[in-house]
Amino acid sequence: MFCYMSCFPRCLVNDEIMNYYREGIMAINSGPLNSKLLRGKMMSTDSEVVVVGAGPSGIIVTNELLRRGIDVKWIDARPEPLGTTRAFSVHARTFEMLEHVGIAHKALEVNAICPGNRFIIAEMDLLMEEMPVLDFRKLENTRYNFYGKVNQHDLETILRNHIASQHTVSPQWGVECLSVYQGDGGIDMEIINKTTGKTETLRPDWVIGADGYFTMSMMDVPLEAYEGDDD
Ligand SMILES: Cc1cc2nc3c(=O)[nH]c(=O)nc-3n(C[C@H](O)[C@H](O)[C@H](O)COP(=O)(O)OP(=O)(O)OC[C@H]3O[C@@H](n4cnc5c(N)ncnc54)[C@H](O)[C@@H]3O)c2cc1C
Repeated sequence: MFCYMSCFPRCLVNDEIMNYYREGIMAINSGPLNSKLLRGKMMSTDSEVVVVGAGPSGIIVTNELLRRGIDVKWIDARPEPLGTTRAFSVHARTFEMLEHVGIAHKALEVNAICPGNRFIIAEMDLLMEEMPVLDFRKLENTRYNFYGKVNQHDLETILRNHIASQHTVSPQWGVECLSVYQGDGGIDMEIINKTTGKTETLRPDWVIGADGYFTMSMMDVPLEAYEGDDD
């Protein structure tokens, strides 16, 4: 059992969760993760994890790391949040995830509820009532039986404010990742503060590239692409 509520791991009420938490800590202390954490602590004075990017992916992953007590440095090349609408459809499973994070109610405050869509296909000679319909009101296994219209900027702001209310970590705006190199001795990462022009080399245990479609932080990493599966 794992509680995803934002209070974790500070839950003092639910014994079952606390027991799980204690067992989890014991498992970590006696398992392979411990050596990873210890090694990181001994070898590096830098953060355990550097998250590159403060868009939706970077915000969610940072929140998940912070609430598990993991030390994060969080950078974004932009001088400030973008502020534009971009994505705006939010489906049931995303609302459920936001509920686990503890902010679904805030997302609902800026949400326009859409029951579904009627697809008007110009080439098909159909009456309006014959057009294909996607009706989310028929969803039975969720309390979010609709899809929402929440603009991406609003959702990002809610998520960032949530992190700010729980933790002391916030994105360092105007700090760009220039390169990431994984050598035998660990990760070398070069960043630049675009305001001061000062560059810095970091040696984190982990780098998470949440820097969007044109990912820079992952460019230099020799990742093997998943070729897919015919089945
Ligand atoms: C005009 C527009 C309309 C869109 N409409 C829709 C839509 O209707 N529906 C939909 O689902 N999606 C839409 N999208 C896509 C949606 O915005 C993206 O899928 C979403 O933003 C991806 O989130 P992300 O966090 O992965 O990346 P991003 O939001 O791209 O965030 C990446 C962050 O990383 C930072 N970064 C990049 N490189 C570096 C670096 N080297 N060092 C430090 N920081 C760096 C960037 O500054 C940025 O803040 C739209 C996008 C655009 C541009």
